[in-house]
Amino acid sequence: MIDALPEKGVPADQILAELRGLRSADLPTHGGRLFAYVYDPAVAGLDELARQAYAVSASVNGLDPTAFPSLLAMENALVGAAARLLGGDAATVGSVTGGGTESLLLAVKAARDAHPAVANPRLVVPSTAHAAFAKAAHYLRVGLDVVPVRELRADPAAMAAAIGPETVLVAASAPSYAHGVVDPIPAIAAVAAERGVRFHVDACFGGWLLPYLRRLGADLPPFDLSVPGVTSISVDLHKYAYAPKGVSVLLHATEELRRPQYFAHADWPGYPMINPVVSSTRSGGPIAAAVATLRSIGDAGYLDLAAATREAVGILAGAVTAVDGVRLHAPPETSVVCLASDGVDLFVLADELTARGWHTQPQMAYREMPPTIHLTVTAAVRATAASFRPDLADAVAAAAARGPAQVPDLPPLSPEMITPDLVAGLAADLGLGDGFSRMAEVNTLLNAAPPALREALLTGFLSLLQRPAAPA
Ligand SMILES: *Cc1c(COP(=O)(O)O)cnc(C)c1O
Repeated sequence: MIDALPEKGVPADQILAELRGLRSADLPTHGGRLFAYVYDPAVAGLDELARQAYAVSASVNGLDPTAFPSLLAMENALVGAAARLLGGDAATVGSVTGGGTESLLLAVKAARDAHPAVANPRLVVPSTAHAAFAKAAHYLRVGLDVVPVRELRADPAAMAAAIGPETVLVAASAPSYAHGVVDPIPAIAAVAAERGVRFHVDACFGGWLLPYLRRLGADLPPFDLSVPGVTSISVDLHKYAYAPKGVSVLLHATEELRRPQYFAHADWPGYPMINPVVSSTRSGGPIAAAVATLRSIGDAGYLDLAAATREAVGILAGAVTAVDGVRLHAPPETSVVCLASDGVDLFVLADELTARGWHTQPQMAYREMPPTIHLTVTAAVRATAASFRPDLADAVAAAAARGPAQVPDLPPLSPEMITPDLVAGLAADLGLGDGFSRMAEVNTLLNAAPPALREALLTGFLSLLQRPAAPA
């Protein structure tokens, strides 16, 4: 246990050794064997450059661009680069945010506040849209209309039918996180424009990759601001732009569309507060690191990284197709390989892959969709992809030998029955005190539960983990 407030300060060497010690329990962020959370281009020297750039601007405050014009210049450079990459024109404006969720929150806020006369504003999304839209709807008290997809893709006719007089925003993904599938953006943009409703393209995940995949000849539809009817688009620089965490860009087609995104308050005794984003005080570190990353890789570099990613996706998808017991759940058209079971217990398989050093992301069953395993593929995977197939075959055989996960018999539970004691008992029964490498039982239990019960159990579990640490 680390004491964050020792009686006397601790020497720097010791502190850094402690931090490195803590980090050694984490999943490997480099090496092309972790298929979620991190984005690794495997470019020599890039981490070091980003770290140094971060340090240059870490203590600069983005609260006031007139006090720190360096940040204004860097943010305008990032927005300008994103606009050029994503079909912007002379009217395009944007903001640098702290991440994809914040970009989506702000797109929803801008749409909501553009219609102050709409009493109960609503948002229309396909069922494959990122969970951050549900979060935005919840935080901002906007109604959420979730439209079923067809073969994992948003259905323009069904989206059109869901638009009502209180709809302030329609959104779709390019591509979706869960499956890496690009929604038919031009057709949805057309129906939104016809109804006079804003249309946001969530390109948080693949916005920095898709333009390069298209240049490489991938058969993907237009998805950006060049499509008539697209009014805003978001792209996370901490995903396929390979910047350190904490940077996303939200672009609007015009300044008028961006206007209601701002919050201004000058009616208090302190400084006038004018914020384009959720945070007020924010560090310049992530912004400087993102600028350094983009300038170091450059347009030609991103094209090469996209080519490596595309090759890796082809190799992994080929492995899934070749190995009996699993199958592709979604077409591997961008940078996600999503596999489903063809006989094997998928959650046991995920554990067997973990045991072989491949860290994947299990996804629960959703409506008519089965549980799946998600692989976010980055350029670093090009170097490891070939060794995935024998390990996958081996892991499938081991999972078949082990058989399905056995879960404790539970009485029927409802969300309001989930108390801290119940969660603590369940966590102990499932062996969660000993780390998170054997998750099949937990995942099986969650998968069998309705979404509201999953939410209550996971909230209870996270709350159990998040406890003030006492000094040893
Ligand atoms: C990652 C992601 C988000 C949320 O981004 P965060 O940076 O995790 O807040 C939103 N939409 C899509 C499609 C994503 O992949």
